[in-house]
Amino acid sequence: MNRIKEWLQGSPRDVTVVEETDVVVVGGGPAGLSAALSAARSGAKVVLLERYNHLGGLASGGMVLVLDDMWDNHLREISVRGTCMTMIERMAALGLATFPREDEWGDDPATVATWTRWGTIDLYSHKTPRPICFAAAFDPDGWKRVALELVQELGVTLRLHSWFSQTLIEGNLVKGVVCESKSGREAILADVVIDATGDLDVAASAGAQHTRGNYVMTTVFRLGGVDTEAAERFQHEDPEAFAELDRQIKKIFGGSWSEWWLKTPLPGVVWCNCPHIAGHDGLLVSDLTKIDVEGRRRIYEAVDFVRANLPGFECCYVVDVAPQTGVRQTRLLEGEYVMTKDDLSTRTRFEDSVARGRDYYMPYRVLLPRDIDNLLVAGRHYSATSVAQRMSREIPPCMAMGDAAGVAAALALSQGVRVRDVDVRAVQRTLREQGADPGDRGEDFAVPSFVRAANQVAV
Ligand SMILES: Cc1cc2nc3c(=O)[nH]c(=O)nc-3n(C[C@H](O)[C@H](O)[C@H](O)COP(=O)(O)OP(=O)(O)OC[C@H]3O[C@@H](n4cnc5c(N)ncnc54)[C@H](O)[C@@H]3O)c2cc1C
Repeated sequence: MNRIKEWLQGSPRDVTVVEETDVVVVGGGPAGLSAALSAARSGAKVVLLERYNHLGGLASGGMVLVLDDMWDNHLREISVRGTCMTMIERMAALGLATFPREDEWGDDPATVATWTRWGTIDLYSHKTPRPICFAAAFDPDGWKRVALELVQELGVTLRLHSWFSQTLIEGNLVKGVVCESKSGREAILADVVIDATGDLDVAASAGAQHTRGNYVMTTVFRLGGVDTEAAERFQHEDPEAFAELDRQIKKIFGGSWSEWWLKTPLPGVVWCNCPHIAGHDGLLVSDLTKIDVEGRRRIYEAVDFVRANLPGFECCYVVDVAPQTGVRQTRLLEGEYVMTKDDLSTRTRFEDSVARGRDYYMPYRVLLPRDIDNLLVAGRHYSATSVAQRMSREIPPCMAMGDAAGVAAALALSQGVRVRDVDVRAVQRTLREQGADPGDRGEDFAVPSFVRAANQVAV
């Protein structure tokens, strides 16, 4: 208790130590979930801390409802496995995830027509139309449900409703974290801390070197009561009228990708990855507030417009606006290695590769802060240039990093070394044993049987 007081010198309030654990993971988004599960699977005692009342981060609270960037179009293989694949398999078994089967990948026009509105397209292909690849559309509550099941199965201690506020550090060695909640100020002491906040909150508080990036923000929302068949028919049968209406809708949004609505496993419910709003800072409460207010204004205007004008959307209504604001990039670690655009586009191979994304590989060093010990990061704030992060920030690679960070944390503890000195070969081996692909050697993983089998959800 005295040491805590010392760490918090100058703080007017007391802090209660609520947990002492091997590993604390801060942030229950895709990266944090994977980190907590893989650390627990590797034998560590794990606490998972999350500010909201559910797990999933941008994948559930942010309602980002397509898992993409897990398909290597050079090797024509699935590149991200591990926890990401487990989530897809479990959600699909509940009818809450859907994806094209192996025989549907490619550019057959009928398959392209079927799957494009699910968002399972190869976004990096230069072909028109873009081919279908392995990616999965899912339901946000399905994600929350399965994530909870997995956390409970592996005995991870979950602390929801807890905002991380400060890193406890002695010299260069991280000792735990403090969070704020309805219960007051609480400390969790841990031998290893994994920062999975997406905004590098923990590492920044520890004084780790980092930089600031920026990208458009989005107030994602869902519409119900959509006749998706009628909407797709209109698009295909009257492309000119569709294009003109689509242009007008996008003008109201003021920013969106080419398909502003995509199907979800819930019939008649679509998700809308828009409106995008540029020029704001995801760490400024004033900017976040502006985004939420302005985003809603644009959504309500667009919904009135589509109800009046767009075939298939006559009876639509807003189901929800994502409770987690769509922040893509804020702080980025400047770690032991900084990933560059070149590394991604030339597909650099690393000896210490521990994770894969689309068609690229990530070395263990991008998870390691310089100068701070027993702290790892995983997720969209990983050590990368701003441009490189934009190309590699999707949910699956963030989960692959989480898998790696969790295994590395647990192995460092069992080897009795600092996380920066962990035996990376053992990390790679353990990841492989746990069903992940660390990307250190070209391995021929079979397509998982549930991906080969027929779809569970009619499309
Ligand atoms: C609008 C939008 C659309 C996108 N579209 C796609 C897409 O189609 N497909 C795709 O694969 N990816 C997409 N992405 C990217 C992807 O969603 C993110 O990069 C990914 O979710 C990052 O995962 P993460 O775990 O690093 O961070 P997050 O998902 O942000 O999770 C961070 C977690 O930490 C918690 N947290 C943060 N701070 C604290 C704190 N101080 N205390 C306690 N808890 C905290 C958060 O509540 C959250 O649960 C999109 C992103 C956005 C914003």
